[in-house]
Amino acid sequence: MVPVSLRSPIPKLGELPIIFLEKVLDRLDLISQLNLRKVSHDLRKVVDSRKSPIEKIWIKYGSSGISVKLDVWDKKEHRYRRHRMTLESFISILQNRKLYLQEFSIETWCDVDLGICEDCSSQGKQIRDGFNSLRHNLQVKRFRSECHEIDMMTILKKLQPGSFKEWELGCMWHGFVPLHWRIPEEITSSNQWKRLKRFYLDESTVSVPIEHLFHLDWFHVELPLASMDDLMKLRDNSHNSASFKEGWVEFCGTTLKEQAIKERLNLVPNPDPEKQELLFHGIDTSEEGLDIELWSGNIFFYKPYNP
Ligand SMILES: [Zn+2]
Repeated sequence: MVPVSLRSPIPKLGELPIIFLEKVLDRLDLISQLNLRKVSHDLRKVVDSRKSPIEKIWIKYGSSGISVKLDVWDKKEHRYRRHRMTLESFISILQNRKLYLQEFSIETWCDVDLGICEDCSSQGKQIRDGFNSLRHNLQVKRFRSECHEIDMMTILKKLQPGSFKEWELGCMWHGFVPLHWRIPEEITSSNQWKRLKRFYLDESTVSVPIEHLFHLDWFHVELPLASMDDLMKLRDNSHNSASFKEGWVEFCGTTLKEQAIKERLNLVPNPDPEKQELLFHGIDTSEEGLDIELWSGNIFFYKPYNP
């Protein structure tokens, strides 16, 4: 061991060899680590180069301000502590390029039924500015958004296509007014959408050219404007796709009658006696084939052997 003279000056934190610095960081909680990265450029680099333990982030904004919740706070050692996080700290978590989130969720509390209230609008802007300041795309597997459209779009564009596999979308931006939403081309033409695997749209109806659903392995959408042709294309695509798992479409039961669908899609009772009466098996009776269920305004396609 090299003797250390007591007269030699105490090194500053940033001058410590990385290996010691890492040990210091291991003992700090998340907020202290985030504070430390503000001290100097070098410390910031060290903090940001470490793999983040955070896997899930939930953010809410609206009339009560912005609140951030992290999954690491649910762990036992943190459970009884109160946590608060500024937007600035939240954005600095996102700046870590090694961050890989299983889930990122954003929700709005808004008292206004139509349009955007002042709180949402100013907090949404701060959040958008934060996301726009990031120099890289975020690795997020599942994105859950129930917020204003403009904020949702900003975040969506910052998600790394390919890492982003699942999107649960709640269309709250029109409050409680029943909503029919045309998925904008800005979304369907994006790489984020094209490489998405699972899509769930909650509480509103959409129209989207049916072809834009073909790459999905799993979806649940309400498509009141779906035509017979759309259903046929969807059946063929689901049948031919090797990775397809499940697709559930709610259509308009008044325009499209069940009997007509059975005839056009060539649906017959499933040969498996254990399967219920409502289950119809269309074009392929092999075990790898596509099963179809049809009931009042719903059609459900699935490949039972594609887990
Ligand atoms: Zn609001």
